Amino acid sequence: MSEHSEFRAQTRAWLAENCPPGARGVGQTAWGSRKIDLQPDVALWLERMAQKGWTVPTWPKEYGGAELDRELYPILIEELKQIGARTPLTGRGVNYIGPTILELGTHQQKAKWLPPIARGDGGWAMGYSEPGAGSDLASLTTRAELDGDHYVINGRKTWTSDAAHCDYIFVLVRTSPEKPKHQGISLVLVDMDQPGVQIHPIQLISGASPFNETLFENALVPACDVIGGVDQGWAVGKRLLQFERSTHAGINTSGSQGGRTSESLLPGKIKPYIGLDNGKLAEPQVRKTLIQHEIDYFAQKLTQQRVIEETQARAPGFASSAIKLSNALITQRADEILMQAMGTQGVGWDTDNFSKDETQATREWLRQKALTIAGGTKEVQLNIIAKRVLGLPD
Ligand SMILES: Cc1cc2nc3c(=O)[nH]c(=O)nc-3n(C[C@H](O)[C@H](O)[C@H](O)COP(=O)(O)OP(=O)(O)OC[C@H]3O[C@@H](n4cnc5c(N)ncnc54)[C@H](O)[C@@H]3O)c2cc1C
Repeated sequence: MSEHSEFRAQTRAWLAENCPPGARGVGQTAWGSRKIDLQPDVALWLERMAQKGWTVPTWPKEYGGAELDRELYPILIEELKQIGARTPLTGRGVNYIGPTILELGTHQQKAKWLPPIARGDGGWAMGYSEPGAGSDLASLTTRAELDGDHYVINGRKTWTSDAAHCDYIFVLVRTSPEKPKHQGISLVLVDMDQPGVQIHPIQLISGASPFNETLFENALVPACDVIGGVDQGWAVGKRLLQFERSTHAGINTSGSQGGRTSESLLPGKIKPYIGLDNGKLAEPQVRKTLIQHEIDYFAQKLTQQRVIEETQARAPGFASSAIKLSNALITQRADEILMQAMGTQGVGWDTDNFSKDETQATREWLRQKALTIAGGTKEVQLNIIAKRVLGLPD
């Protein structure tokens, strides 16, 4: 038996025995927050997978991973999908800041931060955007001043997703205001459990508050928790964005990526609204639109798979912008097609005249509009692709 077949057989047997029923199919996924209770099966799944190093399968063993290479890693993903197992751990820890520390941190920083991240001990927030710095992120004004062996942070971040449930936040701060704006920035790791960090939820028209304003008033950060060097934060922060975009694109390496081809759910969702004629969707125009979507969908899945293989199970560079954007556009297009097919059944919010699936589809359609804003807007991605992938002039 080859090494690969043996790994597959062992993985299959181990997963069959160790993946609890409550960690399969749709349901809760751990992302590290200490403030959210995990269902017993989800907690057990996390614990067992962390022990195997399979919450971060490609990371070195000394930092909580399993050192799976580009050949073995996809086999694990395939076997997880085969039994409908949810990823044991997702979130900004394993997907954004963990890979950044792994690539750019010192040995001490890796030893301090990576094992807890791999165990899902602590949920992470992202402190990038400010009221005056979104796409033009380098204009950020949150200050960090060295005082002895600590930095003192003052400033205001906005759109901080999930901050109310997070334990830590990675923050882009200005350490040298006298330098040109891209050269005076650092990336620091902040413990949110201190009086200097205040969270103010931002209520959306839906009534939910996934976003927050995060205020720093003399918050303290040990000087050793600057990642990648003082004033080097622009390069570090951009690399972290590539990890974020790879996650949005489904080509991250934490075990939650979606690169292996899986079926499009759209045809099945549309059928009840359009009906069939001789086994085909009854409306030719919808059929045509759907076929084009299915071609794009499968091309995207194959591209994800190719990128995962080509980059040897590591996040790509600027290409992450292209895959993130195409993924977002295809997802949004699928929602538009479904909404058109649903007609008036697609405008429900929460009244009795709509099924749960219908109101959920409407909410998804609206929610997914954010896919071309979060992690850098569509226009910002197009600028990056033009400059960095296609080499076009400024
Ligand atoms: C769901 C979601 C979650 C988020 N979570 C977080 C988080 O956890 N932490 C965090 O820090 N931020 C978060 N954000 C914020 C996000 O990063 C910003 O919204 C995004 O970077 C855009 O910034 P902005 O909102 O200030 O818009 P602006 O930068 O003001 O952009 C407004 C419009 O102008 C366009 N534009 C701007 N500059 C250019 C240009 N040079 N060329 C062409 N067009 C341009 C933009 O494309 C956009 O259409 C989140 C956003 C969303 C939607």
